Amino acid sequence: MEVSAFCSLCGKELDDWDVHNDVHIHKRLGYGSIHDGAMLDLRLCCDCLDRLVSLCRVSPVLDGGNRHE
Ligand SMILES: [Zn+2]
Repeated sequence: MEVSAFCSLCGKELDDWDVHNDVHIHKRLGYGSIHDGAMLDLRLCCDCLDRLVSLCRVSPVLDGGNRHE
């Protein structure tokens, strides 16, 4: 059984869809971050991922997929 994980942004427990999308950044931060040297473990739920994508000036979405708008 998997350990439950939570969205870093909104704090909700990740559901099956979120886990399936697996938006997860796990890396050690370097110079240029105020958290220099710290370990980053960031996960996002689908809703927060969509919000993040909508904030991007350069779209990180490379192909159309199924947009729901
Ligand atoms: Zn979230």
